[in-house]
Amino acid sequence: MPAYMCKCGTRVSVGRIPCDHQWNFMSDSEFDKYEDQVDAGELYKEMKEFFKCPSCKRLAMFWDGWDGEPTFYIEDN
Ligand SMILES: [Zn+2]
Repeated sequence: MPAYMCKCGTRVSVGRIPCDHQWNFMSDSEFDKYEDQVDAGELYKEMKEFFKCPSCKRLAMFWDGWDGEPTFYIEDN
């Protein structure tokens, strides 16, 4: 099953559909193109995704796709 390694050492598996750790998003300008559409499949293709580690809650963003290293973000509180 596909997975990535979080900075905390947790192996986060991302192969399940739907994926428990995956969140999908898109920029406001990208969304603007879909104003009059309700095609979930088209929307899904356009969306980027980030993953949330179940242990430390760090977010992993694959800005450059799966071939690049993820950028990690952590809660600040
Ligand atoms: Zn983690």
